[in-house]
Amino acid sequence: MTIPKFTATSIDEIPVNLRRGFRTGKSKSIAYRKQQLLALAYMIKDNAARLHEALDIDLHRAPAETSFIDIFPSLAEAKEAYDSVGRWSKPERAHWSFNWFAMNPTIRKEPKGVVLIISPFNYPITLSLGPLSGAIAAGNACVLKPSELTPAYSALLAELVSQYLDPEMYTVINGAIPESTEMLKLQWDHILYTGGGRVASIILGAAAKTLTPVTTELGGKSPAFIDPKCDLKLTAKRLMWGKVTNSGQTCIAPDYVLVPRSFVDTFVKACIEALKEFFPDGAEKSDSYARIISPGHFARIKGLLDGTKGTVVYGGSTNAETKFIEPTLVVGVKNDDSLMSEEIFGPVLPILVVEDVDEALEIVNSRDHPLALYAFSKDAAYKAKVFDNTQSGACVANDCIVHYGAEGLPFGGIGPSGSGMQGGKFSFDTFTHFRATLDNPKWVDIILGGRYPPFNPKKKASIEGLFPSFPPRDGSSRWSPWFLFAAATATIGAILTKRSGLLGA
Ligand code: NAD
Repeated sequence: MTIPKFTATSIDEIPVNLRRGFRTGKSKSIAYRKQQLLALAYMIKDNAARLHEALDIDLHRAPAETSFIDIFPSLAEAKEAYDSVGRWSKPERAHWSFNWFAMNPTIRKEPKGVVLIISPFNYPITLSLGPLSGAIAAGNACVLKPSELTPAYSALLAELVSQYLDPEMYTVINGAIPESTEMLKLQWDHILYTGGGRVASIILGAAAKTLTPVTTELGGKSPAFIDPKCDLKLTAKRLMWGKVTNSGQTCIAPDYVLVPRSFVDTFVKACIEALKEFFPDGAEKSDSYARIISPGHFARIKGLLDGTKGTVVYGGSTNAETKFIEPTLVVGVKNDDSLMSEEIFGPVLPILVVEDVDEALEIVNSRDHPLALYAFSKDAAYKAKVFDNTQSGACVANDCIVHYGAEGLPFGGIGPSGSGMQGGKFSFDTFTHFRATLDNPKWVDIILGGRYPPFNPKKKASIEGLFPSFPPRDGSSRWSPWFLFAAATATIGAILTKRSGLLGA
């Protein structure tokens, strides 16, 4: 099989003019969007073997892992968008107060225009093509900027997008910082950026100059709370899977775990058993274990490991030449350890020993809000306590990572782990302008005529008659006669105006 050679897009070519394609208006048609979504789905399906090969070159990834964490979610996004685009795009009637004034208040779902998707190296397929489904469904033209750290995938992506999708509307720009910097000087209608916080600051700074809206999908240190009342074998298996998948290079990998003192030895033993089950001859010999993406990231993770004051109880071996880092468990790590200084983004798991769940909560709440937070327990009260007393992009009980693919859930962070959401309808909404519209008939001035000068006491009173009514100050009797009267009037008004056909079909 052949993977094309990575070439950076020439800076002269960067002022891409997809705006002309967008202005043709062809993407207003739902049939057009569906046809492009179908083409995208077949682009992935037809080329699954080449995608596997590309990610083997870039990350030494096993094909089954690429299928599960990259290809499956990309296809699921395309399918959901294909099936739902008609429904998602329908104008929405706004309700209540303005509705019964028959102004026909309606929200039109319109594309934002030409959007830019900047994606990272770690899940290169789904983090570029997943949001692309949302951008296409919403009717935008789109530029994809994949990571230069996955040259095989990024080169293949450029070839495939030009073959399968409408070149007037969709394209790939390849390159590193010089090309990205040039791109950020252009006017975009939305940028969706997935990556680290440091680069996010650069992107937000550049976008501020052109007042471009940005969605940031970032990372952080996602903790896992361990309750001794968990299903131990399952907990260890799922947590270790979350840590070794893509060699720990997952934005929602469990970054560190908090384990009560009395349970540490039992927990570590179960984790080691799970790792031995995954890699019976050791991870280095296994063809199911990825490598670290670049020498720079390898050195960074090794540096964090070398600096720890905790005790390595499993793993710890590394190979700079092959960028291999063994799945590694480190016990007795404190909150100020090197391993707690930044997102690890590698297969090293620090285990923080705590007295109880309250101490675990204190540690987690002393840090930035993470992208994900996990609680392993069979006890509903324990899970509720953890979820109720923390903040994070997502909170998940008894598993990790899988919520990324769960249809209907938003994916996004809070605070330093990102702002905005993506996934299915949330991606569609991200790339959609919710345009407020109304059409006000003449007779409404019977009610709103008090707005026109010259003002007099009668007009003032008619305006004040429009003020909404509230329950009493103490909130006690919500269903007061006045409240019921106002609700009944609103409902009857809505029914009458609807019957009269003033709101349209
Ligand atoms: P990165 O920030 O280094 O790079 C991401 C993208 O930004 C790449 O396409 C890169 O080319 C581009 N970029 C780099 N420097 C730039 C600059 N100066 N100007 C403009 N663009 C620039 O991230 P990475 O190392 O590829 O990915 C790892 C990070 O991404 C981790 O922090 C991880 O948690 C995060 N991440 C988040 C999510 C999520 O959905 N929230 C998913 C995956 C990864």
